[in-house]
Amino acid sequence: MLKVEEISRKYGELTVVDKLSFSVNQGEFVALLGPSGCGKSTSLKMIAGLETPDAGSIELEGRNITRLSPGERKLAMVFQSYALFPHLKVEDNILFGLQARKVPKGEQKKRLDSVVDLVGLGDHLQKKPGQLSGGQCQRVALARAIVAEAKLCLMDEPLSNLDAKLRNEMRTEIRALQQRLGMSVIYVTHDQVEAMSMADRIVLMNNGKVEQIDVPEALYNNPKTIFTAQFIGSPPMNIIKSGSENLGIRPEHIEISEQGMPATILSCDYHGADTIVLADISGQGEDQKLVKIRYPGHALFASDQNISISWAPQNEHRFPL
Ligand code: ADP
Ligand code: MG
Repeated sequence: MLKVEEISRKYGELTVVDKLSFSVNQGEFVALLGPSGCGKSTSLKMIAGLETPDAGSIELEGRNITRLSPGERKLAMVFQSYALFPHLKVEDNILFGLQARKVPKGEQKKRLDSVVDLVGLGDHLQKKPGQLSGGQCQRVALARAIVAEAKLCLMDEPLSNLDAKLRNEMRTEIRALQQRLGMSVIYVTHDQVEAMSMADRIVLMNNGKVEQIDVPEALYNNPKTIFTAQFIGSPPMNIIKSGSENLGIRPEHIEISEQGMPATILSCDYHGADTIVLADISGQGEDQKLVKIRYPGHALFASDQNISISWAPQNEHRFPL
């Protein structure tokens, strides 16, 4: 339903989005993922019509919308800052767009009733945003996007103001809503866990460019570059220089075993369910070569202890030097 083709944007001499192309299918949840400053928000703003691309085109359902005003695109947006009107009641915040578009009152009421149950705001309609928690404010912003019944909903880091527990709950909630309503969503985030757990497909960006576009499993199992390999998964994939290539192995795929590559323990970082063990695999007289190992449960190794590590060959990744 949406086709972004080679859009670019410069600020002065700096190219912040460089020939970005991707598409969104009807009912699909696509995450735009990448480190802070890689051009995610600028890309989303170009799709929304809040920024104009210097080159490239954007098509919505076969119609070129590259130069249309935001209003003409009929897209819904949810931002990190909830962008609610503090002086308006929750109800009026939700209905603001419909009121502005002069949607008949009966229709407004119908849409309000159905969305209020979905996002659980029934008891709060007469309150002002100042009387709500962060999670409730984000639900109001979400409700406003849903009642708009837009073809495509754009979300820019909508959960980053919430604490970790609420963020987790809202992730599940947004994903469930999106699936129930069959919404098409572009969701911007710098958090790989968020993208991996919510998205049907991920557009991974690096420095204004597409690094890799794939379903979450493929980004994890078949990263095409070291950047992807290390951006997806935590701790990042270990990269070991070996002859003419880089060998990649994830911390969760390394076992501490009877036989294998000799290593020396440097430190153990206990997390509860597992321990991240930092070890040195360099030979005598060589510079340190560090690897991280995700060890299930509580690892009780002394620093300087000598161990052996191994992994299954099918878990090796290879990247050219
Ligand atoms: P992200 O959302 O991935 O963190 P942004 O799209 O916000 O990244 O920004 C990408 C780059 O563009 C950053 O280096 C940022 O400083 C720069 N940038 C964003 N907006 C402007 C602007 N209006 N003027 C100049 N530089 C900008
Ligand atoms: Mg941003």
